[in-house]
Amino acid sequence: MNKTYDVMIVGAGVIGSALALALSKQGYSIALLDAQNPSFAATNPERVIALNEGSKRYLDSLGVWQDMMQQGAGWIKHVAVREPAHMSAMDMTHTELGNAPALGYVLEIRHVLEAIQQYFPSHMTTIYGGHCSDFSQNEQGVSLRFTGDEGEQNLQARLLIGADGTHSFVRQQAGIQTYGWNHNRVGIVASIQSQHGHADTAYECFKEDGPIALLPLANGYFSLVWSVAPKMGVELLGLSDEGFMQTLQRELGQELSQHIGAFVSIGKRASFPLELRIAKSFVQDRILLAGNAAHTIHPIAGQGMNLGLRDVAVLCDVLQQDWAKQDLLKPLIGQTYAERRRLDTIAVSGFTEGVLQAFSSSLLPQRWLRGQGLNTMQSHLGIKQWLLKQAAGLGQQKGLKS
Ligand SMILES: Cc1cc2nc3c(=O)[nH]c(=O)nc-3n(C[C@H](O)[C@H](O)[C@H](O)COP(=O)(O)OP(=O)(O)OC[C@H]3O[C@@H](n4cnc5c(N)ncnc54)[C@H](O)[C@@H]3O)c2cc1C
Repeated sequence: MNKTYDVMIVGAGVIGSALALALSKQGYSIALLDAQNPSFAATNPERVIALNEGSKRYLDSLGVWQDMMQQGAGWIKHVAVREPAHMSAMDMTHTELGNAPALGYVLEIRHVLEAIQQYFPSHMTTIYGGHCSDFSQNEQGVSLRFTGDEGEQNLQARLLIGADGTHSFVRQQAGIQTYGWNHNRVGIVASIQSQHGHADTAYECFKEDGPIALLPLANGYFSLVWSVAPKMGVELLGLSDEGFMQTLQRELGQELSQHIGAFVSIGKRASFPLELRIAKSFVQDRILLAGNAAHTIHPIAGQGMNLGLRDVAVLCDVLQQDWAKQDLLKPLIGQTYAERRRLDTIAVSGFTEGVLQAFSSSLLPQRWLRGQGLNTMQSHLGIKQWLLKQAAGLGQQKGLKS
């Protein structure tokens, strides 16, 4: 007779892996499945992520943060928001956030993943390099068919978590609808070096065509995310390195350009389609969604993975409760998780979309308002403090307690 796992997780990205580690620490038996074998090899361009203070504290509590930092991390000590067309600006610094040493940390995703996966207990089941073709719910929980290198396996668990990314198979198979839209934008990413370096500063530069983000990397380079229309994306990818750097320099405007200095070298460029996709429900009986499978948002505010790590923290907190431990089949588990994640997801995705809308409009009143808005936030300590706390993931910390 097949073993019945407590929890089966489809998707061993950062969110699925963090969940697997955290739940196995709580004593649950876990099966973690992924279509790909994990790779911790360097890529060009690197897949880079900014994690905020709240995520740092959570990963520290899991015992993996120091390992991530040892691989090298850029520290975001300052954030400079600019709108070159209207000379409006807002600056934030980590000292405004109490005793936090930084507003955020920029890491390579492979280092985050490796630090988590090295702590998987040897008794945890991991099955990589295959695909789930089917699953169904029954009285014992969920039964799933996974076809991989070792042929077809039928796996049984009390709970199934879909952490399988934006185009989640689990979500679609469960018939959970999404709302959202394609942004009709792609994110051009690359590592890029400038003459004066980054001085631990992240830059957000708002243009009507789409924002440009420059995050400080451990090696002194910036990690670029430039949001543009797909046609322009193709043109930018087709430019020579020199041509690309000059175009970017022009787009950043004179003040910012002079501040960081001329770009001197750039790695490979790649582009990602950008979309908003939120699951209409994060739960369907014994099937739960987490990470990008539940919510994919625009990367401009650097909040997608931070939001996913809060899914992990909340789900682990629910499964820590005595009433949940006694019976993993209780519908209240999924309901409580979904309810506790709703507000945070709406707030973060709504804020991100709001910022994108406000800065992409060419209407005169909106252009005036956003210029005023940035300058007001710069001078209004209360608003700025609130914004800092949300961006740092500290405003949501109380959401982690039941
Ligand atoms: C350009 C860009 C920049 C970003 N910058 C930031 C940032 O600075 N800060 C931040 O917080 N967020 C950022 N994000 C968002 C962040 O990258 C995502 O939120 C995060 O990586 C999602 O992790 P995940 O584990 O949920 O999904 P994924 O990383 O997509 O992992 C899903 C896993 O599921 C597996 N899988 C998929 N389908 C199946 C299947 N059928 N069967 C088995 N396995 C399957 C995949 O192989 C993969 O391993 C950015 C996103 C982009 C595009």
